Amino acid sequence: MASKSNFVYSTREHKFILKEWLDTQHILDLPKFRDYYSLDDVDSILEQALKVAKEVLAPTNDDGEGIGVRFENGKVMVPPSFKKAYDFLQENGWGMHDPDSEGVLPRVIRAACGEYFTGANNTIGLLTEGAAKLIATYGREQDKRRYLPKMYKGQWGGTMCLTETGAGSDVGASVTKAFATDVPQVYKIKGIKNFITGGDHDYTENNIHLLLARIEGATSGTRGLSLFIVPKIWVGEDGSLGEPNDVVTMGIEHKMGIKGSVTAMLNFGDNDGCRGILLGNPPNEKGVAEGIAQMFQMMNSARHTVGQLAMVLATVAYNNAVAYAKERVQGAPITNPRGDRVPIIKHEDVRRMLINQKATLEAMRALIFKNWYYIDLANESDDPVERETASRYVQVLNPLGKAYCSDMAWTLIADAIQVYGGYGYCEEYPVARMARDSKINSIWEGTNYIQALDLVGRKWTLEKGTLFGNWLAEVGQYIDRNQGAAGLEKEFAMLRRAYDAYQEIYATGMRYWQTDPRLVATFATRILHSTAMMYCGCLIADQAMIAIKKLSELGEGHYDYPFYQGKVVSARYYIRNVVPFVSTLAEIIAGGDTSVLDFPEEAF
Ligand SMILES: Cc1cc2nc3c(=O)[nH]c(=O)nc-3n(C[C@H](O)[C@H](O)[C@H](O)COP(=O)(O)OP(=O)(O)OC[C@H]3O[C@@H](n4cnc5c(N)ncnc54)[C@H](O)[C@@H]3O)c2cc1C
Repeated sequence: MASKSNFVYSTREHKFILKEWLDTQHILDLPKFRDYYSLDDVDSILEQALKVAKEVLAPTNDDGEGIGVRFENGKVMVPPSFKKAYDFLQENGWGMHDPDSEGVLPRVIRAACGEYFTGANNTIGLLTEGAAKLIATYGREQDKRRYLPKMYKGQWGGTMCLTETGAGSDVGASVTKAFATDVPQVYKIKGIKNFITGGDHDYTENNIHLLLARIEGATSGTRGLSLFIVPKIWVGEDGSLGEPNDVVTMGIEHKMGIKGSVTAMLNFGDNDGCRGILLGNPPNEKGVAEGIAQMFQMMNSARHTVGQLAMVLATVAYNNAVAYAKERVQGAPITNPRGDRVPIIKHEDVRRMLINQKATLEAMRALIFKNWYYIDLANESDDPVERETASRYVQVLNPLGKAYCSDMAWTLIADAIQVYGGYGYCEEYPVARMARDSKINSIWEGTNYIQALDLVGRKWTLEKGTLFGNWLAEVGQYIDRNQGAAGLEKEFAMLRRAYDAYQEIYATGMRYWQTDPRLVATFATRILHSTAMMYCGCLIADQAMIAIKKLSELGEGHYDYPFYQGKVVSARYYIRNVVPFVSTLAEIIAGGDTSVLDFPEEAF
């Protein structure tokens, strides 16, 4: 059975996460949600979202590659079916919305629905939500009135414009400029931004760019950057559309994957006619501006979503690989070489690859949803202490979710391709595309090295180390509390060893900061992976404890028995086969090998 794209997804794992594992009831009891939803609604919300994903979005997916994004006569067009699906989502309450309106879903539930939508078509959609939130947080009342209603209706799109050809990871090297005008808060903008997702398209009648530029006289580096609202078409005081704002699309990128997603190069103010509205204050007397700190609001939330997107693509690949492995007949069992040929799912090495995908995906999803849970609390809890604590957790978990999930997704999809053999390498089957589409997630929103540096450079040291130290101490207490847990005795003992090894990594890393920061940079990515593996091990063990209890209640004949069995095996596999690498990494990092530093450049 060959099919270019094949959306296979289930709601079962999310029902477990939302109704059995996380205390979603606590989120639903918060003032913002308590009058609208109960835990009983979760199943039907998930089922409806999956239906929309299957019936509305999945049928459009092949158009992302078959038709793709076109750039003709200066205009950018997405496949017609994308526009229809975008409108459907908007009209049926699944698209952009005002996050403060009545009856919005908690993020932790909405994120589950979002998995189905992106799994069905990962290239439909825009960055409007994050852009609108920046205006809602930092805009003047008049800006909010002008822009937000139409952005919330999905009638106007939104983007984030940081990157320039000379300023990628090094955002502070931006050369886009802003010049004051006679109108307060309004500046003339001049510069070229590239790689802008949703930079131009025909989904909406206007596009609102949130753009970083340096006001004349501001200091160099990121500290001198200010944030502007730069509409494609100027917007009048009453919210009506005015004249074009001199934002010209120079071209679109021809990419390895996500071919249905627009990535545009935009020229702002080539004819001196581009205006932007400053968010917040102009640079202070030292030339220090507010833009990068403001932009972090959008980047942080996008980073978490990127980790989830990577996981979703790996999930679709895994689901397809399982279905294929059950059908594809090849070779006899190793114990009976002359026996009948069997479906490849019976072969040990294929099973290893499938279990590795399943277990790692569940560990990743646990990390992502734990973070969504904290994000809901950090934003909506009515208890200030709870809000504060949750927002600290979010700060630690964000770089883990982004970088660990996107790095692992790439390797897991490689396993899915391997399960398919040669067919996996062919575009007629869905998994090759998953690999191409997923690779971007380790690159955008700050490459994964930037995430690793955020962890070891910033999160480790914030609040004199207490933010990370407290989080780590709680993880340790959790492991200690559960030593000897029935059915997971060996797993919790292994987690304790991984935790001890991680503490060594932490101490060594902190020492390297003092003795040779180049060693921190050398090991940063591996430190991030070890942090994620150790923590994910705890989360998946936590889920397994619930599953073990459930298995004893249900009994073997029950239709749901295999689901809970699978959860226990996933935890066992992840903790026994993945988590031990934390100890190996501790040894490698303590060894402080300097090959990376010593290697002569000419020898590469
Ligand atoms: C499809 C796509 C969509 C995008 N969408 C957007 C968007 O909507 N808005 C936007 O503003 N940008 C967007 N980007 C840009 C994206 O965020 C950048 O590509 C990314 O930040 C990396 O920058 P770069 O490509 O210039 O790579 P570089 O910064 O040149 O990095 C190249 C390599 O060097 C490493 N590196 C760089 N500096 C250092 C350092 N100091 N120490 C150690 N290693 C380093 C990096 O980790 C990376 O491995 C998009 C990019 C793509 C491809």
